[in-house]
Amino acid sequence: MSYTLAAAGGAPGIAFGRAVRFVHATPAAADPPGEPPDAALARFAAAQAAAAARLRALADRQRAAGLADEAGIFEAHALLAEDEALTDQVSGLVRDEGHPLGAALDAAIAQMRAALEALDDAYLRERAADITAVGQELRRALYGAGPSLADVPHGAIIVAPDLTPAETAELPPHVAGFATAYGGPTGHTAILARARGLPAVVGLGEAALAIPDGAELIVDGGVCLIVEPTADEQAAYRQRAAEQQAARERRAALRTQPGRLKDGRTVALWANIGHPDEARAALDHGAEGIGLFRTEFLFLDRRAPPDEEEQYRAYCAVLEALAGRTVVVRTIDIGGDKPVPYLQQPPEANPFLGVRALRLCMRRPDLFATQMRALLRAARHGDLWIMLPMVATPDDLQWGREQLRTAAAALAAAGVEHRPDPPLGIMIETPAAAVTADLLARDAAFFSIGSNDLTQYAMAADRGQAELAARYPHNAPAVFRLVARAAEAARAAGIPIGICGELATDPDAAVALAGLGLDELSMAPASIPLVKERLAATTEADAQAAARRALG
Ligand code: PEP
Ligand code: MG
Repeated sequence: MSYTLAAAGGAPGIAFGRAVRFVHATPAAADPPGEPPDAALARFAAAQAAAAARLRALADRQRAAGLADEAGIFEAHALLAEDEALTDQVSGLVRDEGHPLGAALDAAIAQMRAALEALDDAYLRERAADITAVGQELRRALYGAGPSLADVPHGAIIVAPDLTPAETAELPPHVAGFATAYGGPTGHTAILARARGLPAVVGLGEAALAIPDGAELIVDGGVCLIVEPTADEQAAYRQRAAEQQAARERRAALRTQPGRLKDGRTVALWANIGHPDEARAALDHGAEGIGLFRTEFLFLDRRAPPDEEEQYRAYCAVLEALAGRTVVVRTIDIGGDKPVPYLQQPPEANPFLGVRALRLCMRRPDLFATQMRALLRAARHGDLWIMLPMVATPDDLQWGREQLRTAAAALAAAGVEHRPDPPLGIMIETPAAAVTADLLARDAAFFSIGSNDLTQYAMAADRGQAELAARYPHNAPAVFRLVARAAEAARAAGIPIGICGELATDPDAAVALAGLGLDELSMAPASIPLVKERLAATTEADAQAAARRALG
């Protein structure tokens, strides 16, 4: 009989297939009886190195496929596999308490997991799954691979308690989709499924564990799983799948066209990236420029900051890929929810209101000077604009401009080739910047709205708190009014204004933003085709009416 299980999240798309049940690759521990602690710990060290190497190879594969964020997941797992705290804990349990290696590893992983699960923050709680995944990789390195997913039949839908990110990345291409009992929408397993375009449902609950092997299934990605669908359900989903396919083909046809409204005004569609490898995917999705290169990602998951040469190469790589199109590079936004442990910042009670982004650069002008030098040198190779994050006052902008001048003077004195005067603009992501945009517009070459932060600061609602997101959304009239104010100031000063926050990915909001007169909308590459299609079907008058509604 047909029944439906609701999902906590997953990856979009519809998949039809038969259930193949899968239980984790957790082989039983087989430690030599009476193994001396030194021998056990030498085996553990070798397993750590092997697991880290395998995870780094997986990261390389993701990066080669243009999936830099996903590569970052495996790089972080590789660091965790060799984490000193884990090594100390396992060695304490083996040496001081006489545990066999397998039991010591399980106990150490369970303890790290419990510590994360006890936290208030939902995002950090979900990172507990990462610890489990790393534990499984270490077991695999110690005791062998366990069951494999490589041989499942064509068109299978994998049904599992959970899948680790590594298992998800290694699912063979002929798998139609997967369904898990546990896991959440921001877990790395769901993120990887979305990156692969693989329809998936996660967090179905324990009922998923009772689905028999071979049961007929429909995955309604991110929404629900239909078990043994009726003929009517089958027909309805086949129809929806065909419509989705037709929409994808329609949007693909718009790829090479510029973003514009139905009656002609252009609204450029640019892409947000966090790594040079993503520039190619941005172009493939029809991006006309890069509206936000989040350079802080070059600084995460490593032990020291990238030097001038490494940064220079990264910026040149993006400019080269974009072949003359504009690339807006944002100076580092470290702090807030993106701490960098090796910078050893003192703990803060409110990191989002603390020494973050430009403020951290004021504390560490050496970091900023290195980045400025790399940017000014790279600016000779394309249309590079420099953007300052978290500006709240004209003094902030003035400070950034002085640093730029100093870096240019130093390069000139040393005879290093550079461009001394690339456009220097700012993010409008503090309410202070939005309401004094007229003052900032006197010295800024351009504005870009950071609606993610602008929303959290305007609504006093932490952007990482899922519980608050529905009540204090980024499309609230308060946010649109701040955007409108910045847009008026930009228009009066004759400087361009765009947006690079998530708000632009919502097609209704994108239409309203076009109606407010924004020149450019920048977003995750995969969102561009849908927004482009929507703008092309909207007249100027409709966009302005949408803007009036959005303002409340
Ligand atoms: C924003 O705040 O909207 C933004 C684009 O910056 P980030 O999300 O990197 O803070
Ligand atoms: Mg921001």
